Amino acid sequence: MNRIVSDFLIVGGGVTGLTTACRLAEQGATVTLVDRGRTGREASWAGAGMLPPGNLAKAASAEARLRAYSHALWPQFAQTLRNETGIDNGYRTCGAIELGHTDADPALQSLREKLTDEGIAFRMLSQRGDIDSLVPELNMAFHEAIFIPDFAQVRNPRHLKALNIACKNRNVSVFENAESLSLHTVRDKVCVKEQERSFEADQVLIAAGAWSNVLLSQLNVSLPVFPVRGQMLQLRCDQMPFQCVVEQGRRYLVPRSDGLLLVGSTEDHCGFDKRTTAEAIHELLAFALELVPSLSSASVTTSWAGLRPGSQDGLPLLGRINDFDNLFVSAGHFRSGLQMSVGSAHVVADLMLGRQPEIALDGLTVDRFDSTSTERL
Ligand SMILES: Cc1cc2nc3c(=O)[nH]c(=O)nc-3n(C[C@H](O)[C@H](O)[C@H](O)COP(=O)(O)OP(=O)(O)OC[C@H]3O[C@@H](n4cnc5c(N)ncnc54)[C@H](O)[C@@H]3O)c2cc1C
Repeated sequence: MNRIVSDFLIVGGGVTGLTTACRLAEQGATVTLVDRGRTGREASWAGAGMLPPGNLAKAASAEARLRAYSHALWPQFAQTLRNETGIDNGYRTCGAIELGHTDADPALQSLREKLTDEGIAFRMLSQRGDIDSLVPELNMAFHEAIFIPDFAQVRNPRHLKALNIACKNRNVSVFENAESLSLHTVRDKVCVKEQERSFEADQVLIAAGAWSNVLLSQLNVSLPVFPVRGQMLQLRCDQMPFQCVVEQGRRYLVPRSDGLLLVGSTEDHCGFDKRTTAEAIHELLAFALELVPSLSSASVTTSWAGLRPGSQDGLPLLGRINDFDNLFVSAGHFRSGLQMSVGSAHVVADLMLGRQPEIALDGLTVDRFDSTSTERL
């Protein structure tokens, strides 16, 4: 048996696992990361890379705190990755506009209240001319909008490539294509095996996205983390009609700087099925053309689907799993895993290093659900 021993072992190499590995290695620890396939090819690759802003000074909920903490860390982290790897991950503050038909639109009203409460900068756009200045070819049916100037975006595949290189530069040992990991315990300490290799570490982190609960079931642990499929369509525009993210409810358009436009997304509860469906792609195309009719001349380049790690309340589960000496989880980031990746990595790395995280974790801990669903069965 080939023994691979390190301070920390991370199972799962999506944005969650890779960013946490980077953070732990930065603190001087030895880190091993192991993935069933190639790293950064699941939900983290499939996402749109939208990064909504936050404000830690006024964040009152668990979601707002983690979003604000991440928002504050993103610019420096993107810069560090660029310096260390030479890769520009496309992080940029592009702004976002949320559309409504009238100012009585309930979605706009609740967004306005939330932004006001959290002290996040925004502008109400009630004149069609103001909306046109941001999205010139918009359907005439929209008369009201909210513009959020500090909304940012990142290009997922580039970001994951940068994270991979940064991990290697920081001496993280990355093992890919470890298809059949088994988790077991020796005196309440979790160990991981794969064929003729055993991975041993002082602390083990499960960061396997939508598959986290499948892995943990080997230890008779059940967490409310499950797959929620999101389908995405990509267009190429000769001339991009707008530069900011355009959102209406759960659907959105995300313009990249090189003419690509992402149209997202669905929320499908269909288990671990990653196929795209004709119906969903048709709906996404119809949504894009309804919002901006001039997109009818854009070319359709590709479509894909990814499995978000959903959770019972839509928020991540971060921290230690009781009853084991060395088991942690970072999963369940649902629609915000890119945005929250940097903050989650800081929080979880602090916990694994025995330090106090910089933000309060109420509402994010593993034991917040019904005790029967989180304890060992
Ligand atoms: C269409 C779509 C749009 C999205 N848009 C956004 C957005 O705009 N902004 C945002 O913030 N978030 C967005 N998200 C959500 C975000 O992508 C996810 O929350 C995030 O990527 C989750 O990252 P993760 O690392 O936890 O999981 P994943 O990226 O799924 O990574 C999990 C990793 O674990 C590995 N793994 C699984 N099982 C095992 C095993 N048994 N052994 C070893 N390894 C294993 C997998 O191979 C994978 O590499 C979107 C998601 C989708 C699908």
